Amino acid sequence: MREFAGMCWLKKFGRELVLIGLGGVALSGLFACREPNAIQKETRFIMGTVCTIQIPGPPAVARRAMAGRRAVREAVEKAFARLEECDQKFSVFIPSSPVCRFNQQGIPIDDPEIVALIAQACEVSRLSQGAFDITVYPLVELWGFYSGKPRRPAPEEIAAARGKIGWQHLVITNGQVTKKNAAVQIDLGAIAKGYAVDAAMQVLLQNGIHDALIEAGGDIFALGQRNQKPWKIGIRHPRQPGLLDTLEVSDRAIATSGDYEQFFIADGARYHHIFDPRTGYPATNLMSVTVIGANATLADAWSTALFVLGLEKGMKLVEEGAVRAEVLMLTSQGRALSSPGLKTIPGP
Ligand code: AMP
Ligand code: MG
Repeated sequence: MREFAGMCWLKKFGRELVLIGLGGVALSGLFACREPNAIQKETRFIMGTVCTIQIPGPPAVARRAMAGRRAVREAVEKAFARLEECDQKFSVFIPSSPVCRFNQQGIPIDDPEIVALIAQACEVSRLSQGAFDITVYPLVELWGFYSGKPRRPAPEEIAAARGKIGWQHLVITNGQVTKKNAAVQIDLGAIAKGYAVDAAMQVLLQNGIHDALIEAGGDIFALGQRNQKPWKIGIRHPRQPGLLDTLEVSDRAIATSGDYEQFFIADGARYHHIFDPRTGYPATNLMSVTVIGANATLADAWSTALFVLGLEKGMKLVEEGAVRAEVLMLTSQGRALSSPGLKTIPGP
C-alpha cells in the first residue's frame, strides 16, 4: 500500500471522503451547467437514495452511431425502470418484496436474480471472514437506522441482536435461499445499490449506449468515455468544499462506504450505520473506503467489507488479490492510503 498523494490536504482538513463525478452526477450540481454537450442527464429518487444517469453529448453519441435523442431518452427510461425493479426486489421496506417476505414470514427466496446476489454476498462474507454479513438486519434495526431515529442501545440489547446474526444461517440449495434460524433477517443495503447500477448499465449497453455515468447513492459506474476522454471522478471532502484528488476512469465501478452517510453523535462519539457483526457496534478503524473495480456489485460489497475490516486486515486482503480492485482508505486518524495500482490525476 502507499500513502495517498492527498494526505497532507487530508491532515489539514480531512475527516471524510465522498465521490462525485465531475461530469455532473447527483452530488455535483455545481458542475452540471459546465457540461456543454450533455444531451441527457436525469436524477430520480429510487432505493431510498438519489440516482442519476448522465449520457454525454453528441460527439460521443455520433461516434457510437446512436439513433438520436429519442433513442437516448428511451434507453435512460429503461435503465431507470431497471433501478426501480431492483428496488422492488431487494427492499426491506416494501412488504411485497421477496426479501421482506423472507425476513417477516420466512418465505424462501427463489427469484434467481436475488438468489445469485445473496450467493455473491455470502462469498464476500467468506473471504472477509464475516466482516461483511447481510444478516446484520437486527443490528441496523436495533440501532434505529431504519426508523430514522437512531439511538445507542444497551449492551444486553446488542448481545441479543448479535445472537440472530450469521451468514452461515443462510442455506442456498436448489435455487432457493432458506434460513436455518427463524430469527435471521437479511439486509442487502451494502450490495444491492451496486448491483442495481450494474443492471442499469447493462440496460444502457443493450440499448446502444456505450458512454454513460450511472450513480446510485455513492455507487458509480463510469461506462465508456465522456466526450472521448475518460470520466473524471472527483473525491471530495464531504464536510469541506474542494476535492482531495481525482480519478480518471473508463468502464470502471467506484463505490464508497463511509461513516458520514448515516450517523448520530452521542456523548461526543460518532455512531454510524456500518456494523462490525462481531461486536455489534459500528466499525471504528476507518472513516471511508473507496473501491475501484470492474463491477459495481463487488465494489459496493467490498467497500463495506473493507470498511469493517479496517486498514491492515483490509489492505492485506487487497494485496493478496482477494478483492480484485484498487482501493483508497481513509483512517479515523485522517491518513489516506491506497493500493499500489491506484492512479490519480491532479484535480481541476
Ligand atoms: P454501504 O453504504 O454500501 O457501506 O452499506 C451500508 C449498509 O449496509 C447499512 O446501511 C446496512 O444496511 C448494511 N450493513 C451494515 N453493516 C454491514 C455489514 N457488516 N455487512 C453487510 N451489510 C452491512
Ligand atoms: Mg457497500
